[in-house]
Amino acid sequence: MTTRVFTDQRCLLHRSPAGYPERSERLEAIVEHLAGEGHEIVDSVAFPEVEERIRLVHEPAYVERLRRAVERGDGLIDSADNPLSEGTYEASVAAVETTLTAAEWVMGGSDRKALAAVRPPGHHAEHGTAMGFCYLNNIAVAAAHLIDKQGLGRVAIFDFDVHHGNGTQHLFEERADVLYVSTHQYPFYPGTGAADERGRGPGEGATVNVPLPAGTGDVGFAAALEAEVLPALAAFAPEVLMLSAGFDAWQNDPVGGMRVTADAYDDWSRRLAGLAAEVCGGRVLSVLEGGYDLTALPRLVDIHLRGLSAATSG
Ligand SMILES: [Zn+2]
Repeated sequence: MTTRVFTDQRCLLHRSPAGYPERSERLEAIVEHLAGEGHEIVDSVAFPEVEERIRLVHEPAYVERLRRAVERGDGLIDSADNPLSEGTYEASVAAVETTLTAAEWVMGGSDRKALAAVRPPGHHAEHGTAMGFCYLNNIAVAAAHLIDKQGLGRVAIFDFDVHHGNGTQHLFEERADVLYVSTHQYPFYPGTGAADERGRGPGEGATVNVPLPAGTGDVGFAAALEAEVLPALAAFAPEVLMLSAGFDAWQNDPVGGMRVTADAYDDWSRRLAGLAAEVCGGRVLSVLEGGYDLTALPRLVDIHLRGLSAATSG
């Protein structure tokens, strides 16, 4: 079974000023490369009641504040990392719609794997705040939708972006039905993700942070996967495995400071798909987060998809 790619041209409508690493060319390069490599690409369409789905994790007043700031022509929202353009709101909603469409497709059968090739990314976006190039938390909306609207009992999210996904952690840290596991450079932006952040109340233990020092390479990441990530995911026994797929731990990424090679993305993807085959019928939804080396990014995503597709459930 190949991994199906869901994307949407509207994601390109968010434009960032010169010098911002998160730009529309990232997604254009990825989709063009994946199409050339023969991947099956689905152009997303509007998802019904998307705004209601967004409100499963975001404060309605924040969503309205974002929409109005774009309408007024404001230059930024909440931080210097969050520039606004005429198409920012439309692109952000399209990224959520695409992720929801991919999530529903993955749940429609066994051994289904999908990539939501979207931007702007989402994992830093908080309940009521835009942050770190993120406006709406795509993967969090999809996880909440599957549980709160589709009746799933357990969703696991593994975030291998080089940055800690503060938004995703905070949105689910008091819930027992969403496991959030993250490997990330630490100390580093955004400052959260210490090993002792393990969830709170009913969510105690359903947050697993694996902070890694700058310069960690393939060996260090493989050890973290083996010792902490895979056992935590297996023990939780989710019904679907979601991945916050950032490619900024790549050795030449201009933003991250890790030494991960292309081989590592192949290795992690195979292991994660193998685990999904054992615990959740092979169902994997990967959602694009960061990754800023434009020359390498399309190839790394391709390697990730091939690695996911290589494992099948028995
Ligand atoms: Zn990142």
